[in-house]
Amino acid sequence: MVPAEPTEPMSRVLVLYTGGTIGMRKNARGVYEPVAGWFAEQIAQQPQLHDPTQPKFTTRPSASGRRIHYDVAAYEVPLDSANLDLSHWARFATDIERAYDDYDAFVVVHGTDTMAYTASALAFMLDGLAKPVILTGAQIPIERLRNDALDNLLGALGIAGHYAIPEVGLYFHHKLLRGCRATKVDAVGLDAFASPNLPPLAEVGVDVKVAWHLVRPAPAGPLRVHTRFDPHVASLRLYPGITRRILENFLAPPLAGLVLESFGAGNAPDRDDDLIGVLRAASERGVVIVNVSQCLKGHVRPSYAAGQALVDAGVVPGADMTPEAALTKLAYLLGQGLPLDEVRALAGRSLRGELTEDP
Ligand code: ASP
Repeated sequence: MVPAEPTEPMSRVLVLYTGGTIGMRKNARGVYEPVAGWFAEQIAQQPQLHDPTQPKFTTRPSASGRRIHYDVAAYEVPLDSANLDLSHWARFATDIERAYDDYDAFVVVHGTDTMAYTASALAFMLDGLAKPVILTGAQIPIERLRNDALDNLLGALGIAGHYAIPEVGLYFHHKLLRGCRATKVDAVGLDAFASPNLPPLAEVGVDVKVAWHLVRPAPAGPLRVHTRFDPHVASLRLYPGITRRILENFLAPPLAGLVLESFGAGNAPDRDDDLIGVLRAASERGVVIVNVSQCLKGHVRPSYAAGQALVDAGVVPGADMTPEAALTKLAYLLGQGLPLDEVRALAGRSLRGELTEDP
């Protein structure tokens, strides 16, 4: 069912600035770095983001007559997203939880490099999410004359403030993607993110088109935030010629979970060097191994003997999950202290729409 657009004339959105290019400035050596306070200063100066007839940080009315009042909360030390880790994800989730009842929606402003990881992690952490949480950022800082920052920010704010999409999304270059389906595909282009196995949840052109049939239903229960993640997870991209020793070393303690990025529809070498035996031994020892494809599109399905061998070794087929979703999901599931059989069963099922069951 398509939820009606809210009728109140104003929505309240909390903008959390975590760092990233969008709010960076060139330092003395001529390279971009995040500078505390700079993003908020830039936002305060953008005429498009403020209606002069209203209190500051209130937009002009949209085509449907709705204004958005937003507060900007910036972290003391804004970071290049390459420096974020599990503790930062937990902090973002906790801050959203604290402000949950005071706002209609949340925009998390973030560096693009690891945005897809944070989006996936937040999707798993924010269990029972009933409000939009939208990550966005930019390839060009907002201080530059020509930038994608303003467009991305306005688009994310607009969707957050108008559409009750109860999901963690990633808004970039006129598209809202499901966060746990998104991946960064371009280091320099402005259309930097893709969702190879799920169409966008919304597209912004002359009109905003929300694909309501793809949007997950609002949950019945309250928000529950899970911040415990197991840090002992890793990703390994298979390559022709990988040796048994390399694989054994990779799977050695303290590793608890592995995302195996395999070939094509989920295949691994099953002839030489007994690599499958190494994976089986690790599974038996309690390492949870999830198989996702190196291909951007498509899913893991044991249609070849080389793929079936992995299933027989206890490796969980990860369907069409992105490597980012698979890694954060494993860290999340292992962090919940569940029996390993349950972790394995849940790893192959859709918890937040991160994979297609029975494609
Ligand atoms: N290195 C930056 C970051 O991820 C890139 C960006 O924001 O576009 O923080």
